[in-house]
Amino acid sequence: MTEQENAYLSLRNINKIYPNGFHAVHNFNLDIKKGEFIVFVGPSGCGKSTTLRMIAGLENISKGEFLINGKLANEKGPREREIAMVFQSYALYPHMSVYDNLAFGLTLEGVDEDVIEERVMKTAKILGLTDYLDRKPRALSGGQRQRVAVGRAIIRKVGIFLMDEPLSNLDAKQRVTMRSEITQIHRETGATTIYVTHDQTEAMTMADRIVVMKDGYIQQVGTPYELYFNPVNTFVAGFIGEPPMNLIPAVLKDGCITVGENKLNLSSVMNDKLLKEYENKEVIFGFRPEAVALSTSASSEELVLACKTELTELLGDSANIYITMGERQAILKVDPHLLDEAEDGFSFTISKKSVYIFDKETGLRLEK
Ligand code: ATP
Repeated sequence: MTEQENAYLSLRNINKIYPNGFHAVHNFNLDIKKGEFIVFVGPSGCGKSTTLRMIAGLENISKGEFLINGKLANEKGPREREIAMVFQSYALYPHMSVYDNLAFGLTLEGVDEDVIEERVMKTAKILGLTDYLDRKPRALSGGQRQRVAVGRAIIRKVGIFLMDEPLSNLDAKQRVTMRSEITQIHRETGATTIYVTHDQTEAMTMADRIVVMKDGYIQQVGTPYELYFNPVNTFVAGFIGEPPMNLIPAVLKDGCITVGENKLNLSSVMNDKLLKEYENKEVIFGFRPEAVALSTSASSEELVLACKTELTELLGDSANIYITMGERQAILKVDPHLLDEAEDGFSFTISKKSVYIFDKETGLRLEK
């Protein structure tokens, strides 16, 4: 079977043009397998929610085809799509108890009372809500309200969950807890899930595959590992990873770039053809903050750079060192025990394998 035949949800050349003429989503193509956990990630306004709402049937598709199980679904209403959605705002009924909020969808579908009770009790147990079934939403914490909203989706036993920034109203600690709970629920239910967030950590920790979006265009689709180690452009490189990848512009001259007082030979970082092609042109020199070692001597497989410390930040398990190399700035993430070695000026090495070179004009990564 080809990937496309195997797809459960298919988005083919999907476009959204709002009535005011704004083109919010451009040629969105994606095939999703049954049971996959897909995360749409990108900065505010990049078109994540618009795409999700087109999948949900809450927003019409201006151009392109949306297929569920190989059947065209563009014209299907939200209910017919067998989709459950969790919103950022929770959208709970304030005058109803937790029990009734959970039961509501099933009651509408005409499910028998005793079946409803059994499912409510089971869902409440999974989400730790058994002791709160009589309470109204206002008497719950943010995290508990969020659990009710998730419960309302999973109780319907539909095959597709759509979640739009479901954790954004929670504090940092609750977010970490709910993150793993949602991942676990996904494992248990096996439902195909599309999850929208602007938080790259949520994307990295939860997704089977991530779709990175910017200005209505897909930038890259891949596993968290692929996006982290093989970003296709400077946008993805800078968006995935915390702190982000250091991206330093420099002009290539005789196969070398100069960063501050450091002259770096890129002969084994770029192939001969690229070295020729980019001679006298600007490239972006990229390296991850954590892909460095503090050392003054480098092997032939490494580059060594001298820098000046501007500021250090102890995070506990790691430390960030904000450095300058001439007028260029960068961040290094190191073992906190090494901070003493970085008090003033120091040198660090980067393995050549961990260096990324991008075209300055297009932002595209240059294959080695
Ligand atoms: P956020 O994280 O802020 O929710 P997003 O990536 O989900 O952002 P969308 O809500 O999909 O972005 O919006 C994409 C673009 O479409 C934005 O520029 C937004 O202003 C625009 N937009 C959204 N709804 C409409 C509308 N009804 N009419 C016109 N433009 C709209």
